[in-house]
Amino acid sequence: MNNNTCIDLIIVGGGLAGLVSAIHLSKQGIEVLVIEKNTYPRHKVCGEYVSNEVLPYLQSLGVDPLKLGAKKINRFMLSTPKNKVIETQLPLGGFGISRYTLDHALVQKSKENGAIIIQDTVTDIKFLDDEFSIITKNGGSYKAKVVIGAHGKRSNIDVTLNRNFIKNKSPLLAVKTHLKGDFPDDLVALHNFKGGYCGLSKVENDSINVCYIADFKSFQKFKNIQDFQQKILYKNTYLKNVFENSEPVFSKPLTISQLSFSSKKPVEQHVLMCGDSAGMIHPLSGNGMSMAIRSAQMLSKLLINYFAGTIKSREMLEIMYEKTWNNEFKKRLKTGHIVASLFKMDYFSELMLLGLKNFPGLLPKIIKQAHGKPLIV
Ligand SMILES: Cc1cc2nc3c(=O)[nH]c(=O)nc-3n(C[C@H](O)[C@H](O)[C@H](O)COP(=O)(O)OP(=O)(O)OC[C@H]3O[C@@H](n4cnc5c(N)ncnc54)[C@H](O)[C@@H]3O)c2cc1C
Repeated sequence: MNNNTCIDLIIVGGGLAGLVSAIHLSKQGIEVLVIEKNTYPRHKVCGEYVSNEVLPYLQSLGVDPLKLGAKKINRFMLSTPKNKVIETQLPLGGFGISRYTLDHALVQKSKENGAIIIQDTVTDIKFLDDEFSIITKNGGSYKAKVVIGAHGKRSNIDVTLNRNFIKNKSPLLAVKTHLKGDFPDDLVALHNFKGGYCGLSKVENDSINVCYIADFKSFQKFKNIQDFQQKILYKNTYLKNVFENSEPVFSKPLTISQLSFSSKKPVEQHVLMCGDSAGMIHPLSGNGMSMAIRSAQMLSKLLINYFAGTIKSREMLEIMYEKTWNNEFKKRLKTGHIVASLFKMDYFSELMLLGLKNFPGLLPKIIKQAHGKPLIV
């Protein structure tokens, strides 16, 4: 690719939002360059439960998670730190697939459609005279008519763009591993413990994905992850049972810190933010991946109209994207936030579970609020 020519589109970050946009837009003949800082395939800290709302859309793009061995999931189990438990059918259901497999399949499809993917870190984005200049760590310099920021929840590029949320420190960290052991294929479980919660579900190769979020302060008091798990997580007997009767697949768990759910803007300095870079829902809702995929679909549809000249100006494109994004996601983010705050209060979470048990129709309703409807392809 000639660094001096101005191409149609550069996508910063090749996670779900970036790759789905790349597939959708390159299929329509739009020139796409994805710049991703990491290599593929790789494991990522993620609960790996994906809502079915995006399944038909992924299939229409030529990536079928079920053909990749994803587990169909239709039951949900919730337990409190005091081991009270409730189970329900999931209103829409979902599937379990590792990011290792899913992201890799999306990369293959993007390349098949003609998108170019390079491994590098974007260090600067400038908008001048109606075009973008992008600089990378390895000395690359590129020009594009449009830039999608699909760089995830927190990135060096948020600092470069001086985004407001990046200034807030977050006390949350996340740990993820894969285990081999006994666990139903069709279940996603959310087990709460003091200061956090842990999601469990099976993925394509029969591993149990275990992913938990904890408060850094409570974590700090312990020597290491093992010690923390045994002293805190094991108080939830469901978690203790899974950990004690399984074998680890990874040599050591993956961790990330600085998990922030502060609100963000879907458009910043003319960069169209997509996926977590536009806004991140609490992982306990199990809807972040669908939101990333859904936002990629929404943005791709608008961009096709923009490149075809039906959307007449950049200003109009940005207004339309911001409006569609807010209509689609604001309510889900709010529900996710409220539920997560309630679960933070141990006493309240026990009470809430009691309430949910007495009104069995309530839990599926709350789940529906944090999820979208199946996507129209
Ligand atoms: C602990 C945890 C558990 C979760 N569990 C679930 C779940 O069970 N179900 C669910 O639906 N969602 C879950 N989520 C949310 C889900 O992981 C995210 O919503 C989803 O990954 C967002 O996709 P994305 O494409 O926006 O970002 P990502 O998938 O994070 O992709 C961003 C990409 O950008 C790259 N990048 C960043 N900066 C640069 C740069 N400067 N230059 C080049 N590349 C860059 C990164 O390397 C990365 O590959 C969970 C999240 C967490 C933290």
